[in-house]
Amino acid sequence: MFDLRDLYMQVIVDHNKAPRNFGKLQHYNHDADGHNPLCGDKLHLYLHVDAHDVIEDISFEGEGCAISVASASLMSEAMKGKTVAEFEAMFDAFQKMVTADLAQEPDDEQLGKLAVLAGVREFPSRIKCAVLCWHTMKLAIEDASEAAKTE
Ligand code: ZN
Repeated sequence: MFDLRDLYMQVIVDHNKAPRNFGKLQHYNHDADGHNPLCGDKLHLYLHVDAHDVIEDISFEGEGCAISVASASLMSEAMKGKTVAEFEAMFDAFQKMVTADLAQEPDDEQLGKLAVLAGVREFPSRIKCAVLCWHTMKLAIEDASEAAKTE
């Protein structure tokens, strides 16, 4: 039998070793800091959201445990090209998935690859590691008062 948990682990290990969209965006108009003191995960998220609320580009920097890095990497991949409304729907779905009952199958139709992080439900102390990037992204998007920054 094909072991789904092994596959999930492989995806997490891969994204931790080679995080996608890692580094600072050259042009961004939203950014925020995220910190999970329980584990020591730290990240800084950069977003470029266009006039039609499309997340044109996203990147992150920081350091943390494998779960926090892999989660940010997977989220950055999934959110590029999505709208802010789609982000909000995914945020809710992700939050529900990682706090759901263990017996409940993740909704991988909606979450796609992000469903690999459903495994953190078995380790309640790691849930904060997995959701850190999502909260950071929410904060970055809500901070609309900040003027566009370009370097
Ligand atoms: Zn962590």
